[in-house]
Amino acid sequence: MRILVTNDDGVRAEGIAILAEIAASFGEVTVVAPADQQSATSHAITLHNPLRVDEVEPRRHAVSGTPTDCVLLAVKGLLPDPPDIVLSGVNHGPNMGADVTYSGTVAAAIEGTLLGVPSAAFSIAGRSKLHFDTVRRFLPALLKKFLDNRPPALTYWNVNFPNLPPEKIRGVQVSHLGHRIYQDTVVRKIDPRGKPYYWIGGDEPTADLDPGTDFRALDDGCLSVTPLHLELNDFESIARMRTWEWEIDEGNRP
Ligand code: MN
Repeated sequence: MRILVTNDDGVRAEGIAILAEIAASFGEVTVVAPADQQSATSHAITLHNPLRVDEVEPRRHAVSGTPTDCVLLAVKGLLPDPPDIVLSGVNHGPNMGADVTYSGTVAAAIEGTLLGVPSAAFSIAGRSKLHFDTVRRFLPALLKKFLDNRPPALTYWNVNFPNLPPEKIRGVQVSHLGHRIYQDTVVRKIDPRGKPYYWIGGDEPTADLDPGTDFRALDDGCLSVTPLHLELNDFESIARMRTWEWEIDEGNRP
C-alpha cells in the first residue's frame, strides 16, 4: 500500500516525522510536504507561481507551496503511482470546531478526499511541550482502524490528540465539530518608516464543551475522531428558498 504523508507545518516538523515513521509500518510512505510553515493557509492552491520540488532525501519531497499543492502534485504526477491513502499531520496545535475551515492540515485531507483518495488529518491539541509520546502510543491503533474502515466517498477523518501524557488518556470519542469562541484581536503598530501595520493575534480561543463535541472529547481526556463530509449544500434552505417569489423578472430589470 502506498501512503502519502503531508502537513502544513513544513517538511521539517517533528509531527510529520512521527506520522511518517508510524505509517511506515503499514505501507510504503512518501512524504510530500511544504518546504515552509503553511499553517492557516486553508485550501489555498498556487496558480500564479511555479512550484519547485526538492527531494531532500529519498521519498521525502519539499514543495514551495501549500498543503493542497502537495497533495495535488503527489496524486497528479510527481509520484510514479498515486497514493492509496493520504495522511496529514501530525499538526502542532488543535484543529477542532471552526479551526477546520482555516487549517492547512485539514485542507490536505480535503484535497485527498476530493481526488478520491481516503484521507485523514491528525493534530495534537497543544501549543508547546507537545506530548508526541501520546501520538506514538495511540496513532498505530487509529491508523489500523482507518485502514480497515476507509471513509466513504466525500468523507474524511479529523483526529485530535489531547496534549496529555499517555497514561492520562481515557479512550476515544467519535465526535462532531463543536463551536469555538475566538478571542482575536488586531494589533496596530507603526513600522520603522512611520507606516502602520496590523498583526492578528489574541488569547487562546475557548470553546463550548457540549457533550458529543470534539472539544468535550479532549476535555474528557479522550482522543477525538470526527468524520467530516464535503457535502456543503443546505438542502433545507434550498427547498424553502425555492418557494420564494424572487421578484426578478422582465419588469424589474434596471
Ligand atoms: Mn499547522
